[in-house]
Amino acid sequence: MKKIYLKPGKEKAIINRHPWIFSGAIESADPEIVNGEIITVVDSQGNRLGNGYANSLTDIQVRMLAFDPNEFDSKHLTKLITAAYAKRLNHPLLKNTDSYRLIFSESDFLPGLIVDNYAGHLVVQFLTLGMDKMKTEIVDNLVKIIKPKSIYEKSDHDGRRFEGLEPISGQLHKKTPAEIKIIENNLFFLVNVAAGQKTGFYLDQRDNRKLIQKIAAGKNVLNLFSYTGSFGVAALAGGAKSVTSIDASKNALELSEKNFILNKFNPEKHGHLEADIFEYLKNEPINSDLIIIDPPALAKNRSNAINACHGYQNLNYQAIKKCPPNSLILTCSCSRFINMELWQKVIFAAAVAANRQVTIIGKYGQPVDHSINIFCPETEYLKAMLLLVE
Ligand code: SAH
Repeated sequence: MKKIYLKPGKEKAIINRHPWIFSGAIESADPEIVNGEIITVVDSQGNRLGNGYANSLTDIQVRMLAFDPNEFDSKHLTKLITAAYAKRLNHPLLKNTDSYRLIFSESDFLPGLIVDNYAGHLVVQFLTLGMDKMKTEIVDNLVKIIKPKSIYEKSDHDGRRFEGLEPISGQLHKKTPAEIKIIENNLFFLVNVAAGQKTGFYLDQRDNRKLIQKIAAGKNVLNLFSYTGSFGVAALAGGAKSVTSIDASKNALELSEKNFILNKFNPEKHGHLEADIFEYLKNEPINSDLIIIDPPALAKNRSNAINACHGYQNLNYQAIKKCPPNSLILTCSCSRFINMELWQKVIFAAAVAANRQVTIIGKYGQPVDHSINIFCPETEYLKAMLLLVE
């Protein structure tokens, strides 16, 4: 394997098992390393620190795959996929569902790889060139280890362009149905992998859906950024009086409608509205006393984190200001570039501006299948707070 040599002192992060190497840490590299190639990382003393894949096109020049002097090989890949599966299989916190994230990138030591399992159908995302190059081997391993009903690739996000890759989607193994029916906490959801967002469903909100189910009895629920309606379905299951779901995506709302029907709720109890939520909140009153705010990641990178904070502040300010007394708000952020501390300051500013008494009743994060790699804090992204507005 070709080698990349680190500057003196720059081995510390790797010894602490952080998997990213930026250009500033690199002293030199063997000639003719091809982007995406697996290389050996060597410290300034000549010690081999492990293997990763390189890409000179991106800020992160190397993503580590292994932190030991032995060379990364196909056996190692098989071991990692098997271990990720074993961690989830029969996990007590996943026993009420047939769908979960099977491989979560750096948290499963496979940077750039996402695999979601929807009732036995796998959806994969290859986010980086290094992972993309291992596609055939990864699919072979998934077929052998998991024995899935099908595998669909959904590597359609624009970030691939920075890696030198085109967005791509399509069938990789057998046939994925147009809509997969999944079960979670005795509720059913339809997942449209090909037309949906990300891999099709927000598995990462599972625990927060359960929370909504527990607190929704007797409430009128406003589900903002509702996508395919999962929070609203959970709320009705928990005894909510009514649910209004709002989203800008017509396709998502159509599938949401189907999800309410699938769970046999009284159609009079739920309504859908296609709207821009920023406009809606500016112009409309709020009569609901349980509000869910789950926008897409408003900060797409570090440099627009401040702008994104204004977006979060605005949404939360409007909801806090307009909701009836003693309302509950479950507010969420999935921007990895805004941490809990900063985000809480944003909610604080929204509460001050709205001039209401606001209490944080609970703080929540990612479920077990989206676990956080302690050595790579960037794997933490989902934050939620339950607010009481008096
Ligand atoms: N809460 C959902 C996931 C939300 S994903 C769930 O748990 O399933 C974010 C959603 O926000 C997407 O469905 C997207 O269509 C919607 N969206 C993005 N910008 C919007 C806007 N300005 N107004 C309304 N909806 C928007």
